[in-house]
Amino acid sequence: MNAVTFPDSKPLDIALPDWLNECLISHQSDQNNQDIDLICRAFNFAYQLHEGQTRKSGEPYIAHPVAVAGILRDLGGDKAMIAAGFLHDVVEDTNVTVEEIEEMFGQEVALLVEGVTKLSKFNFSNKTEQQAENFRRMFLAMARDIRVIVVKLADRLHNMRTLEPLRPEKQRRIARETKEIFAPLANRLGIWRVKWELEDLSFKYLEPEDYREIQNFVSEKRIDRETRIETVKNTLQKRLDDMEIQVLELQGRPKHLYGIYFKMQRQNKGFHEIYDLAALRIIVKTNEECYRALAVVHDVFKPMPGRFKDYIGLPKPNRYQSLHTTVVGLNGRPLEIQIRTLEMHHIAEYGIAAHWKYKETGGSNHTHFSNEDEKFTWLRQLLDWQSDLKDDQEYVDNLKENLFDDDVYVFTPNGDVIALSRGATPVDFAYRIHTEVGNHMKGARINGKWSVLDQPLHNGDIVEIITQKNCHPSIDWLNFVVTPTARNRIRQWFKRSRRDENMARGKELLEKELGKNGFEALLKSQPMQTVAEKCNYQSVDDLLAGLGYGGITLNQVVNRVREVTVTNQKQEVSEVNLPSASPSPSCPTKPNKSPILGVEGLVYHIAGCCKPLPGDPIIGVVTRGKRGISIHAQNCSNLENVAGEQFIPVRWNTVDSKGCVTTYPVDVQIEALDRVGVLKDILLRVSDHHVNVCNAGVKTGRNKPAIINLRIEIRDRQQLDYLVNSINNMSDVLHIHRVNGVDF
Ligand code: MN
Repeated sequence: MNAVTFPDSKPLDIALPDWLNECLISHQSDQNNQDIDLICRAFNFAYQLHEGQTRKSGEPYIAHPVAVAGILRDLGGDKAMIAAGFLHDVVEDTNVTVEEIEEMFGQEVALLVEGVTKLSKFNFSNKTEQQAENFRRMFLAMARDIRVIVVKLADRLHNMRTLEPLRPEKQRRIARETKEIFAPLANRLGIWRVKWELEDLSFKYLEPEDYREIQNFVSEKRIDRETRIETVKNTLQKRLDDMEIQVLELQGRPKHLYGIYFKMQRQNKGFHEIYDLAALRIIVKTNEECYRALAVVHDVFKPMPGRFKDYIGLPKPNRYQSLHTTVVGLNGRPLEIQIRTLEMHHIAEYGIAAHWKYKETGGSNHTHFSNEDEKFTWLRQLLDWQSDLKDDQEYVDNLKENLFDDDVYVFTPNGDVIALSRGATPVDFAYRIHTEVGNHMKGARINGKWSVLDQPLHNGDIVEIITQKNCHPSIDWLNFVVTPTARNRIRQWFKRSRRDENMARGKELLEKELGKNGFEALLKSQPMQTVAEKCNYQSVDDLLAGLGYGGITLNQVVNRVREVTVTNQKQEVSEVNLPSASPSPSCPTKPNKSPILGVEGLVYHIAGCCKPLPGDPIIGVVTRGKRGISIHAQNCSNLENVAGEQFIPVRWNTVDSKGCVTTYPVDVQIEALDRVGVLKDILLRVSDHHVNVCNAGVKTGRNKPAIINLRIEIRDRQQLDYLVNSINNMSDVLHIHRVNGVDF
């Protein structure tokens, strides 16, 4: 058909396939058929753009897009897909932009070309299985339109068919990619015809020896096999005619070489054991005829028990329908027979592509999915169904869970794929790579351009994180990160980065409490290590840091220290004879005006060394001076030198003269990560403890923790301790301490 001279009346430098020639000829006489117009214009445009370019084989480059368009046409692709087949390489290989494609060919074609162009940019070589799976998932997520993947598969199929002129390393790289990424994708979409061919072609380049061996076996046995099949065919054809079953096709079924190889490997069988199995396919018109044909087959040949499967009554998850049986054929050799209708056959061969085909004939003028919902519902079902077929259920569950959640797939500069939640930013990305990358992140480049850190990432972005040793997280990051990993690690950093500060503070607190004498030695002692462990810290330093940032209260530590020292040095400590923290039984039950119970009628004063505040556990010490009873905090270090008989139990009065519970105002200051709602959450906890708030103030500064000042009305120390612990356990809270008083 060299009669067509197009464009510019120059003779074409390649022979075009018949379907395209016909298209071009009918376009010359009738410009009004929109489908033909689009296809011809796309071809013409691609032809001009690729003019002068050649493939490795030396043939004109245009042969490739023409072949890809042809494959798409064979697969039942619509006009937009066929046009995209012609144009799929122009954006990458010429200076045409997607915008220009859209102007000339409409949005649909432009989106397909853009999608395929994006997918072409990735380098899949040398990936682990996990990475390969990520790639496949990314493909599905990225190619919002499944047709993009089908166009890409057609592109890959033709490249695989024409791999011969390339260097062996390149052949193997492309073949491996095909085997790991593209064949499974074709499988997932049910396009078996493409899947088989991709598998066979990659097999050929990846395992050339095995491939040739199997190929030789198959051709050696061809005559024998074909003779056998021919005999069976004749017998069956006659009987089916007798039964007036109209047979559309009855022929030996080609087995693809990789399938044989795979079966041999998996079942650990020799070639003969696998290949002895001849196979035959019968295609009839109706479902009913399928079953009638089956009856004929089972009448002529003896069925092998347990080998019959009715996938018409119970279709396979990917919509595959067929009757399968294995019978004892000539010479007692097993013969596999498949029986199906033409429509079933198309679905088996073309998978999701057949879906378009049948939608088209079904009267819809849209040859693709009419809306997103339908498209995804269908793919979702496809995947649900296919999951039944897989052996590795966990893998499939994982896949299903992840495929349609709102993930976004981006690349490291090395080309590894990272899956993140939708809306994830460069900071999320950095923390996913490594905590240290996040903690020292200075900036980010997305697709080579500097980016703000809160920029949401898009599928296919290449993200590069720039780190610098003295860079640190900013509290501001918590306002935009979306992954829990990043959020937690930023918080952790803020807690941990103050470790030194916290340790110093904890040490100071404890020293004040226990006295300077022998303090350093105590910290290094085994009993102190025991204290740390009893408080659930690994080391004394951890304990001090915990004390410093408020992970544990001073009271708790001191009590533990006393406990441990008491057990260790019973003799010495027995003299101290510390009173219990519980209220003294001598306290009066009647309402009393005195703020301190147990000192009624006595002179007393608040000790200057520890200045206990209402709510702190206190103890009275009888002094020899005129100032009477001295009221100390129970954990005051000066008590160590007091003889037991000098103590008298006292407690704060919690009931006023009218019998009402007395509360004491306590000021606390909370340092918290500044995020929306943190104050509300803290106040919620306060009210959970039935504590009233008299006053609350918040100071915030850019990139600084928020400082929250609360004046709360506390009934007693225990109530305060519980509340403080509860606030301290909030992940946003960095530190809580009491203002103007003995700390917790
Ligand atoms: Mn291409």
